[in-house]
Amino acid sequence: MQFFTRTFLSILSHHLLIFDMNTIDTMEATVHSPAATEHTAAQWTEEQVLALFNKGLLELIWEAQTVHRRYHHPEEIELASLLSVKTGGCPENCSYCPQSKHYDTGVENEPLLDIDTVLAAAQRAKEHGAHRFCMGAAWRSPTEKQLDNIIEMIQGVKALGLETCVTLGMLKKGQAQRLKEAGLDFYNHNLDTSADFYSEIISTRSYEDRLNTIQEVQQAELKSCVGGIIGMGESVEQRARMITTLANLNPYPQSVPINQLVPAAGTPMAQHEPIHPFELVRTIAVVRICMPKAVVRLSAGRTDLDDSAQALCFMAGANSIFYGDTLLTTPNPEQQRDKKLLHALGLRPRQA
Ligand code: SF4
Repeated sequence: MQFFTRTFLSILSHHLLIFDMNTIDTMEATVHSPAATEHTAAQWTEEQVLALFNKGLLELIWEAQTVHRRYHHPEEIELASLLSVKTGGCPENCSYCPQSKHYDTGVENEPLLDIDTVLAAAQRAKEHGAHRFCMGAAWRSPTEKQLDNIIEMIQGVKALGLETCVTLGMLKKGQAQRLKEAGLDFYNHNLDTSADFYSEIISTRSYEDRLNTIQEVQQAELKSCVGGIIGMGESVEQRARMITTLANLNPYPQSVPINQLVPAAGTPMAQHEPIHPFELVRTIAVVRICMPKAVVRLSAGRTDLDDSAQALCFMAGANSIFYGDTLLTTPNPEQQRDKKLLHALGLRPRQA
């Protein structure tokens, strides 16, 4: 598969080189335009999104790259660092998650980290070039007291000059506003999959619960980080349906993480076969076209991708990665490997 991907990549590079020569002037004029910071709603139908999925892959990547260059610098990549501030023992039963207390996965239930530990990790992330520091807690929904602790962390991380993002589960009325007042930049709350597949992977909450928290976040004028996971047994139609829902949020998310399932031992999805990397590339391209101004993050599952497959994801419009050796409890490529890859591709970290 590696040889096939490499050959494909060299053909595609040639294709894009021609594109580069023809469009470089226009690109310079548009990449830094003020419009690149705006987020407008566009109504997509499932049929339109599915039609994108059904395009030839080269054509789709070409279209996605064209859209990408209209709104983003083609050589910039956002580096985000993710720390699990409260690990394991989660009461939710997400079938893919080793932190759920419903499954015997070997992940220990740990208490909330203390503020000094969190700030030391944030400082290290900054020194390694991270632009955003994300903190995840394995809760169904935070209490007010837990939110007090998280707010202290947000303020400390902000003071280090990093963008902040937290993922804490469902928010009750007023909690998003408290986070906004604390200076939080992004709230992450993934849709995971389509509404009609959701009950196959989680039964302790509904899709509606998920959408309600996203609405709370948006009403508090926090930026939203909302994405999904592919490779959980969903159909292409269901992937298209999830992207339609994301793209029709008003506004659509400023940040869209796309994950490939990492089958975790002990979870109901432990035996799932990995998807072909082209399926991930295709999904990223569709996300880029449907949400042109969003930062699209190539998230969990990168350890299963060779360098060529990752390069294709960047060509398809991914412009953010998680940087660090673990994602909560899931493995991620080592920082040195990422540095080499970004250097080889001529990508440079986006500055704060
Ligand atoms: S994905 Fe989040 S909400 Fe679901 S079980 Fe894991 S930690 Fe809990």
